Amino acid sequence: MSLENVLIDELRDLYSAENQLVKALPKMAKGTSSPELKELITDHLEQTRGQVDRLKQIFEQLGKRPSGELCKGMEGLVKEGQEQLESDEEGAAKDICIAGAALRVEHYEIAGYTAAIAIARALGKDEIVTLLEETLQEEEEAGQKVLEQTEPLLEEASSDGEEEEDDVESEDEETVAAAPAGRGAGAGKQPTKRASR
Ligand code: FE
Ligand code: ZN
Ligand code: FE
Repeated sequence: MSLENVLIDELRDLYSAENQLVKALPKMAKGTSSPELKELITDHLEQTRGQVDRLKQIFEQLGKRPSGELCKGMEGLVKEGQEQLESDEEGAAKDICIAGAALRVEHYEIAGYTAAIAIARALGKDEIVTLLEETLQEEEEAGQKVLEQTEPLLEEASSDGEEEEDDVESEDEETVAAAPAGRGAGAGKQPTKRASR
């Protein structure tokens, strides 16, 4: 396969990924209770529509059609995000899960655009490089903002967690001790002692 065809495949994959997000982001915005996170996701939806247009513009330059690939990576990420939306978690804990899903999405896109830029650069397609770099920058900024918005949620959730733990311990200490590691009351506790280094 020629390098130009490799680029076209990469770009079609990104086109599929962005279009999946145009559908998924409104659901994520709706499912979050943090107004800041909701606004961030809604803003990024607008940016994502612009990114789709940018890709269309690139395909016009290449004289190719943009469709024809399904990005399975994004399909998986969107499914995982959907699971977070349907989880029984509430409030800050749920928003942290949604933010985690959003961060995964941004980093996946960053990887895809970084690869596509490298290929376009090797082919000497400078205009395409410039367009892809605009999107890459938006993805990086979006990821950064998600992290920033997660900070206050983490603070909120860790103080919620302390209260819950106190309640459980005073009610029934044995249940806590017997709870398996993983999610739930026993989460975060080390079940086995590790040798100190
Ligand atoms: Fe994007
Ligand atoms: Zn993909
Ligand atoms: Fe993005």
